[in-house]
Amino acid sequence: MEQELRLSSWLPTTKKECKIRGWDELDVILFSGDAYVDHPSFGPAVIGRLLESYGLRVAIVPQPSVTDNLQDFEKLGKPRLFFGVTSGVMDSMVSNYTASKRRRDKDAYTPNGDKGLRPDYATIVYSKILKEKYPDTPVLIGGIEASLRRVTHYDYWSDKLKPSILKESGADILVYGMGEQPLKEIVTLMQKGVPFSSLKTIKQTAYLQPKEEPLQKNKNWVDKRLSSHEACLADKKTFAANFKTIEQESNKTYGGRILQDIDDEVLVINPPYPTMLEKEIDASFDLPYTRLPHPKYSKRGPIPAFEMIKFSINTHRGCFGGCSFCTISAHQGKFIASRSKESILKEVDQVASMPDFKGYLSDIGGPSANMYQMKGKVQEICDKCVAPSCINPVICSNLDTSHAPMTDLYQAVDKHPKIKKSFIGSGIRYDMLVPDFNKNADPQELEDYTEEVITNHVSGRLKVAPEHTSDKVLKLMRKPSFSNFHDFKKIFDKINLRKKLNLQLIPYFISSHPQSEIEDMANMAAETKDMGFQLEQVQGFTPTPMTVATVIYYSGYHPYTLEKMDTPKTAQEKEEQHRFFFWYKKENQAWIRKSLTKIGRHDLLNKLLPKGGTNTYKKDFKSKNTFDDTVDVPKGIINKKSKPTRGKRNQDGFVSVLDKNKKTEEPFKKRKPKKRRR
Ligand code: SF4
Repeated sequence: MEQELRLSSWLPTTKKECKIRGWDELDVILFSGDAYVDHPSFGPAVIGRLLESYGLRVAIVPQPSVTDNLQDFEKLGKPRLFFGVTSGVMDSMVSNYTASKRRRDKDAYTPNGDKGLRPDYATIVYSKILKEKYPDTPVLIGGIEASLRRVTHYDYWSDKLKPSILKESGADILVYGMGEQPLKEIVTLMQKGVPFSSLKTIKQTAYLQPKEEPLQKNKNWVDKRLSSHEACLADKKTFAANFKTIEQESNKTYGGRILQDIDDEVLVINPPYPTMLEKEIDASFDLPYTRLPHPKYSKRGPIPAFEMIKFSINTHRGCFGGCSFCTISAHQGKFIASRSKESILKEVDQVASMPDFKGYLSDIGGPSANMYQMKGKVQEICDKCVAPSCINPVICSNLDTSHAPMTDLYQAVDKHPKIKKSFIGSGIRYDMLVPDFNKNADPQELEDYTEEVITNHVSGRLKVAPEHTSDKVLKLMRKPSFSNFHDFKKIFDKINLRKKLNLQLIPYFISSHPQSEIEDMANMAAETKDMGFQLEQVQGFTPTPMTVATVIYYSGYHPYTLEKMDTPKTAQEKEEQHRFFFWYKKENQAWIRKSLTKIGRHDLLNKLLPKGGTNTYKKDFKSKNTFDDTVDVPKGIINKKSKPTRGKRNQDGFVSVLDKNKKTEEPFKKRKPKKRRR
């Protein structure tokens, strides 16, 4: 199928492109730390397309230069309504640095993976520049960086407690979470002539106001006052205690309004919107994306993050797992917003029509693949709930964990004539597939789903994330006991054998998590060795803003119990935790013997490195040390575990044909890629 695209099929990024659309003035200008990929997995594109759907004239300035004369901040002038600023799909510090604070070699959201185009603390940098140049034009900040730094938070990279990002950025308003609902209300009110400075009661937004000013009243909202930023600076335990309120209010159906004093101002965080309805989330995915990077990048090389997701489908947002190291529910919410089957199948059809699509969908998933269409059986019970997780420590009896809609969806996708195979690349909550753990579910449904996934949607290896083997650490992580992983492995092995599939089960683990001690790591190594695993990848824990684990890392207190807790922090402690994963490497064995002898754990030593036993694996086994590669990517946005599509992206036909001398554009076509000769 040929699809005709013009330069004006993308949101404009330059004055010239605005002219093509006949626009002399813009309503909103967005600044983003990512390259512009016009795809529903990329937040800036979603917001741009949404605003466009309200009839606004929107332009996007991707990766503006902050090292020259700041021309990028002036080239489009000032907008009629407001500037929108985001660091991009990820927090800029996670994009720019590894878990051990080394600068990354690549930026996945930039053509060719080039680094250096996104400043550190991008939201603050861009907002400050805009505020300096256009002090009278409102600046709205959003995206994951703004969202997760909306209140006093620990910043791992500067090793400091920072105030709300509103304070440092000088922005006028902050939209947290997914932006569609608050932006709709903001735009509607502004179109009616309501001044920006009066937008004080919009849900899912935050702002600062002088302490002496009275707070806007809303009879439906209960105010929850946090300890002030200064009190947090003075006492780590106070900071930790704040987090319980923040997490609970952010996850409620009808949360309270959060207030926090910062100097002579008060931070006001309005409650979140209820979960998006099916028609609302469908509408967002159905916007007229080209699903491609802007043509300006055609000669600069592929954008790795786009290559990773261009043939994948996002089925839902949100996660009710509540893992204590994860930011998904803080950003996307605990309740699941699912797309309709029709909307998903329509997108499958779009992907299948892409010229370079070869019949393989890399992922049908979400933050956790197997939460699609799941919700409380009785919503009124959920409305009053404050539990951070619906599946930990046990699966809530009010949660409908039916997997039938997913089995049905996967089979419907595979019926598409152009789909040869569809993979589930997103993480699967394996514990929900274990009948002894998921007592709510019909065991037959669980078996059908598991068999469907293992038989038809796995490419050689099924990756799941038990994260640890120690019950003490798992409890803190809000993850189930490792015994459930043993049970899942039995189910996996049975299907694998019966169907003669020869698949591998790959468990993922985290090192240096709060409460994880050397002995726990030794035990993990011994237990997984006993199960026949050759551990390949380990993620070092990265303390990103707004997680329980990060609060513990910084403060040393659990925010719910205020119990004291330890975290491995020094480079040496982290390295030592890490070495146990690679016990089979000769260079680690003497150290492991010495360490376990020193703490008197001869039992673990005998399991791990028995005298006269086989203490190495086959030579060709390649372990991958990803200690420095920990990323905190919202899985609903980009699936970090799916593999990038191999091969170079064919850019034929994607090039801009804007003639410098003309103010019009020629249509250009996406052509089918030529067949390569063997
Ligand atoms: S009641 Fe159960 S299903 Fe509903 S939000 Fe609470 S834990 Fe989740």
